Order: sequence, then structure tokens, then C-alpha cells
Amino acid sequence: MHCPFCAHNDTRVIDSRLSHEGDQVRRRRECPTCSERFTTFEVAELAWPRVVKRDGLRATFEQEKLRDGVLKALEKRPVPMEAVELAVRSILSKLRALGEREVSSRQLGEWVMEELLDLDEVAYVRFASVYHRFQDLDAFRAEIAKLRRSA
Ligand SMILES: [Zn+2]
Repeated sequence: MHCPFCAHNDTRVIDSRLSHEGDQVRRRRECPTCSERFTTFEVAELAWPRVVKRDGLRATFEQEKLRDGVLKALEKRPVPMEAVELAVRSILSKLRALGEREVSSRQLGEWVMEELLDLDEVAYVRFASVYHRFQDLDAFRAEIAKLRRSA
């Protein structure tokens, strides 16, 4: 990287550390010519996949919507925000790991359900019942049975 002070075409990294979130690298650099020091931040450039809805329409993935969905399911439940954030982060890393240009809304919903199942059973059933738009009791009961089996 060029020195921003004297434009020398090379600078030396003297310190490199991860931010506490682990998603950013902070580097201290020093110019061998003018000895000025400066800091650079490095973040991965991420393009989230597009979300393919049930009707085939594509939408932009929004982290806030995902978080809202999880929070809505957990409304008035005894789950600390820290656990909620971890769950959201876990879904985001699955999404990144997918490395695809598109993800189905169904897949996203399933990841949410996996996290909710770990966090809170009531929230899980709440979300699942909305998510699947249960029209028939059998589907709902199958979900409850699945829940009991894994409990
Ligand atoms: Zn310099």
C-alpha cells in the first residue's frame, strides 16, 4: 500500500489484529521512507445472496428483517438478547458459507427454526406455525411431534 504522506510505493505492516467481532482486521503500517505511521482496516466484501420467495420473486436479503423475524418469535420469552444475537450471527454465517447467489426463503426459514429450537420451544412453535401457515392440523401436529422427539 502506498504511503498517504509521501506516496512512497510500499509500506510495512508493524501490527495486525482482529477486531473483537472478528470481522475486521486492523493494521498499523509504517512508511520506510518518511517513517509516518497510519492505520488501515480490512473487511471482507460481502454480497449477500438474493432471496428467492415461494412465488419465485427475488428480493434483497436484509439482515434487519431476519433479526426482526427472530425477535418477533421470541416476544415476551425469557431469552437474553445476547443469545438472540448469537443465533442471528449463526444464520448469517450459514448464509455466507453457502456461497451461492441465491437462497430460498424456505432455507432461511429453516435456519431460523433450527436456532429457535435451541433457544426456546414456545418461540419455535410460534415461528413454525406462522412460517408454515398451517392450514391443516396434521402439519402442525407433525411439528409438535418433531419438537417432542428432539426435546
Ligand atoms: Zn511515507
